[in-house]
Amino acid sequence: MEGAVSPAAMDAADPLRHFRDRFALPDGVIYLDGNSLGCLPKATPDRVAEVVQTEWGKGLIGSWNSAGWVDASQRVGDKIARVIGAGAGEVVACDSTSVNVFKALCAAISLNPDRSTILSERGNFPTDIYMMQGLEALTGRRITARFVDGADVVSAIDDDTAAVLLTQVHYRSGAVRDMASTTAAAHARGALAIWDLSHSAGAIPVALNDARADFAVGCGYKFLNGGPGAPGYIFVARRHQEAAMPALSGWFGHARPFDFEDRYEPAPGIARFLVGTPPILGLAALEVGVDLMLEADMAALRVKSMALGQLFVETMEPVAARHRFTLVSPGDPAERGSQISYAHPQAYPIVQALIARGVVGDFRAPDVLRFGLTPLYTSFADVEAAVRAIAAVMDEGAWDAPEYRERAAVT
Ligand SMILES: *Cc1c(COP(=O)(O)O)cnc(C)c1O
Repeated sequence: MEGAVSPAAMDAADPLRHFRDRFALPDGVIYLDGNSLGCLPKATPDRVAEVVQTEWGKGLIGSWNSAGWVDASQRVGDKIARVIGAGAGEVVACDSTSVNVFKALCAAISLNPDRSTILSERGNFPTDIYMMQGLEALTGRRITARFVDGADVVSAIDDDTAAVLLTQVHYRSGAVRDMASTTAAAHARGALAIWDLSHSAGAIPVALNDARADFAVGCGYKFLNGGPGAPGYIFVARRHQEAAMPALSGWFGHARPFDFEDRYEPAPGIARFLVGTPPILGLAALEVGVDLMLEADMAALRVKSMALGQLFVETMEPVAARHRFTLVSPGDPAERGSQISYAHPQAYPIVQALIARGVVGDFRAPDVLRFGLTPLYTSFADVEAAVRAIAAVMDEGAWDAPEYRERAAVT
């Protein structure tokens, strides 16, 4: 790093550095997997304990009204809306991302009933693909799921495309897709655009309404730090809300759930995209993570994320050359999200050897090492130490041990 600013100096100049202290980071661990499971905010345990002991333990069923449980999905949704460039009343926090993908696809089809294709890219996150395939089967193939190479998606949108489902930041490569131009291309052909924000919300600035996005979904447990299995969220642009029909027509999305009527009538607005009783403990933890995210300036987050990525790639260059790592992420920081991915034939055991040394990234089949950079708590010193660990694991051949080859259920 001769002539360059040292990582320590970069940390000292980092306007976001005080956020690191708001997270419970275990000693001796460099955590580069916040894009898979975000870290624990220090405020979360007390808040969850309060919900358990006071709101549940003492308030019991009265807490549905008195502790604001009944509209927690909308309240947390309104906060997430501010992270993703949506308005109040356009987002609810509920269900898993997978279920929300299904809900968004069905709603889009209900708005575009004369069309029969749903389109995505090959290699998209599997649940998005599987949900499309499930919908195809469910409709007896009245709806067909079509997959093309990522570069061909826009040109594949045609007069039969009801909706295009795309992930803004690709989970494996970290490549960012231009939301505004892709959405405009879909609209020009009469198709609707559904965006999966799982790797973009909290990682890069997202501007759903500026891009005129129709629907979006995303995860609560990645960059939003909502905790394992945190509820996801769904965005439905206000202009579609009265016409979009929920396929999962549960009682929490009814206009008057506590009238217990026999006939389903969707609630006005975003509430119709709720299905069942909201998971209050999960929403409480998610709300702490989102509140923390809202304290940070998104432009500063992006600047830091790009600088972390640049430091990673530049420091890694000689190691990559020596040990044949191929950068899978785009080389231009403007074109990637908040992760750096490399391909290597021994990716799995290398990741395990790094974890054994306290550097936690992850492996994505078939051959990708993925390092998430979470600007709220990743430091420049972390990046430098992580690359030093990669160099050591490779130079020493430490990855080449039988215990690192055994595949765990979760990679
Ligand atoms: C992580 C992720 C999901 C996860 O979906 P779940 O239902 O929460 O398991 C979905 N889509 C994308 C693009 C993801 O990265």
